[in-house]
Amino acid sequence: MGDVLEDRSSVTVVTSSSSRYARQLPLIGENGQQRLKESTVLVAGIGGLGGACALYLAAAGVGHLILLHDGVVQLPDLNRQTLMNWESLGRPRVEEAEKTLRAFDPDLKVTTIQGKVGEVSLDTWLKQADLVIDARYDMEERFKLNELCVRQGVPMMEAAMYGWEIFLFWVIPKLGPCLECLHARDAPRRGSPLGFRCWAR
Ligand SMILES: [Zn+2]
Repeated sequence: MGDVLEDRSSVTVVTSSSSRYARQLPLIGENGQQRLKESTVLVAGIGGLGGACALYLAAAGVGHLILLHDGVVQLPDLNRQTLMNWESLGRPRVEEAEKTLRAFDPDLKVTTIQGKVGEVSLDTWLKQADLVIDARYDMEERFKLNELCVRQGVPMMEAAMYGWEIFLFWVIPKLGPCLECLHARDAPRRGSPLGFRCWAR
């Protein structure tokens, strides 16, 4: 499809997918771009890390983002949560994130889930997801999400930041270790740490 020219007051804007992604098409090609457009990513935890992931996934052209979070925006969030602003204070994070992301790309599909892992049903959404990014703060929620992803066969990127430290860990179900394998949460009772087959037990 050719470029479309829109006249927005005194500014002429070129709007087309080929123009929007021109800087990355040499890297991933039209097929890669199409795959991104057809992809769904569930981001659990819309904070400094999860929010930045959501923004860059949207910028790259991922077609559908599912945002999961249970809190509201507070003043100390604003030093790093770039999807939020002053007017977001006191409002649900997922709603504010959705608002910013929709303004960023009107073609982006955004689904919001207000709640915690384990308290809301994620089965429907995990069936749609090509990838999960786990940026939740709470470790119990991380273990629950790990178990759901492994059982449903959804790849998951474990991501965490604390102070100057960062933790990144890929969970590829049934091909490599998962969070349970790594941390052996219930090792004495339920099995063995890294090196044994776990599949989230
Ligand atoms: Zn495991």
